[in-house]
Amino acid sequence: MITTDLTLIKQQLEQGEVVGIPTETVYGIAANIFDEQAIDKIFSTKKRPNSNPLIVHVKSIEQAKSLVLDFPKKAELLASRFWPGPLTLILPKNKLVSDKVSSNQPTVAIRIPNHEKALELLNMLDFPIAAPSANPYNRISPTRSSHVENYFPQMAILEGGHCTAGVESTILSFEGDNVLLLRHGAISIEEIEAVVGRISDRTAFDSTHISPGRSKKHYSPLCDLIISYEPLFVLSAIQHKKVGMLWFNQVKIDSPKVSVNKVLAPSGTFKEAAANMYDSLHQLEKEGVDLIIVERLPNHGLGRTINDRFERAAAK
Ligand code: AMP
Ligand code: MG
Repeated sequence: MITTDLTLIKQQLEQGEVVGIPTETVYGIAANIFDEQAIDKIFSTKKRPNSNPLIVHVKSIEQAKSLVLDFPKKAELLASRFWPGPLTLILPKNKLVSDKVSSNQPTVAIRIPNHEKALELLNMLDFPIAAPSANPYNRISPTRSSHVENYFPQMAILEGGHCTAGVESTILSFEGDNVLLLRHGAISIEEIEAVVGRISDRTAFDSTHISPGRSKKHYSPLCDLIISYEPLFVLSAIQHKKVGMLWFNQVKIDSPKVSVNKVLAPSGTFKEAAANMYDSLHQLEKEGVDLIIVERLPNHGLGRTINDRFERAAAK
């Protein structure tokens, strides 16, 4: 059920239910972080492994500080520059944060979402909420309330329009004076380095031990997906398949072999491409194509984040 009734959503959360909420990144499935049974419901509803920790959403830096043992100087700088916004900071947790939320890590992932409705809701609550994306484990992330309803028809979902960033938050952790990048996201490396200097990229598939849950396969449509700098070359080798093409800023071929052409960003900006990425995958999946061929973006700025998501969507 999709609703605009914030009071109803608040009551559901207070009663230990999970609800769908909008954020600027993707829609989340939210629960009270201080209610362990509600946290369990997030994992069971998503079929998410318990080893994959949750991101805690707070209303203020003060509320974030109430959950951690330490807030390093560089974390302060980044929070004051990017919060509310799509930046998640991994910080040492205090005992208010249960091991269920952190999947037994000594740290907790925290951010302030930059979405009017999410902030309004957080300000009505006297607890922070955990809110991973509102999709079954490994499926395409939701950027519209209707995507969430398709996945979880029974759930109360707060209407919040189409997500403006449209891609998950960037995740950083801190090691001494070093800042580590654990997940590419809606804020680019370049933007972060402009605030704190050089950071270390730890996003490789083999560093899942420092960022649990970063599985190679993720964000996947039900059909096959190939990402390439040479989509026309890939297309030339395909036969007997219903093909959907996902172009960056323009359609480069109008072939009878292609059932659906979609353009991620007519304006040519990475920001627009990120905002449309998951929505386009949902639409192509609805069209019933057997194969999606994606044009790889230049690998800088948000282009890196978008390529990362399509690579994981392509992984078997
Ligand atoms: P999401 O699924 O978008 O809510 O993001 C959750 C992701 O944040 C997890 O899959 C981890 O990669 C990362 N994460 C959350 N908590 C921690 C933590 N304590 N340490 C390292 N990474 C974390
Ligand atoms: Mg997710």
